[in-house]
Amino acid sequence: MKKGLLISCAALGLASTLLLSSCGKSEEYDVIATSFAGYDFARAVAKDNLSCSMLLNPDTDLHEYSPSPRDILSIKKSKVFIYIGGESDEEWVESQILPQIDSNKTTVINMMEVVEEKGGNRYEEEDPSSFEPEGIDSNAYYAKQIHDDEEEYDEHIWNSLTNAKLIIEEISSVFKAIDEKNKESYETNKEDYIAKINEVDNNIKDVIKTSSKDLIVFADKFPLLYFVKEYGLQYDAAFKGCDSSNSASATTIIKLANKVCENDLNTIFVIELSKNQSIANSVKSKVQEKGKDVEIRTFYTMHNVSKDDLDKGTTYVDFMNKNVESLNIALN
Ligand SMILES: [Zn+2]
Repeated sequence: MKKGLLISCAALGLASTLLLSSCGKSEEYDVIATSFAGYDFARAVAKDNLSCSMLLNPDTDLHEYSPSPRDILSIKKSKVFIYIGGESDEEWVESQILPQIDSNKTTVINMMEVVEEKGGNRYEEEDPSSFEPEGIDSNAYYAKQIHDDEEEYDEHIWNSLTNAKLIIEEISSVFKAIDEKNKESYETNKEDYIAKINEVDNNIKDVIKTSSKDLIVFADKFPLLYFVKEYGLQYDAAFKGCDSSNSASATTIIKLANKVCENDLNTIFVIELSKNQSIANSVKSKVQEKGKDVEIRTFYTMHNVSKDDLDKGTTYVDFMNKNVESLNIALN
């Protein structure tokens, strides 16, 4: 079980002092988010009016996180608690956190519910076209898919910029309700951040409109269904969503390499903090065997951040701008 320290990024110096001085005691923050996107949206709206933190330690996998007793205590003391409401946090939040929360003290924001209520984009997970199950009989894999009767929405909703804005709107409404005296500040901060997101959105649209290609290939997990659907991009990947598989089948690797060659792509993407770089290296080798060259580039999906980016205060908008630069190369 991973130990989830509370990491504050709003005021870096202050936060590290608090962290270091906290032996076993829970920290008190006004706003706590389980993952990076919710945390980033909250700090952008809160600025100096509310203290915000993220449960995940930097450089760790959101999908492997589970809360420590100290994390639970901190959440109970918070004024606002933000979680995704999908496969990575829904289960532990709903079984361990929500029953213990005093709803008069803590407002809970479930980002997937917000997106649904506000009419945002929601998509069910889907297997990428080159995906072939490894190590088990394919028929058994597909039969299991058919018999999993529950609809599973892909939880990576924040990678739709439209959804991101809806979540920011909700966070701003909640902050105004719990801290009325600063409501004008929350409104201004929200408008400023949404303007920055609109700017990135326009940059992405410009790149796509002027590019010669419309396909991106990930030799990795693919938590970007919302992103590609929003912009009408084609995609292929080793796994859907954040599949926990650690290796891809030989068939998947060959199919991905063929896709890169047939479409004359210059980029194989991996996601940040990827543990699966060996898949990308294998695809790259196969591509090179066919006499072509290809680069491995990172696409930021914002589950979590590196320690370095956390210390620098890198934002959702900053990461999306890095993605725009990479897309501009990959699609041309
Ligand atoms: Zn994920």
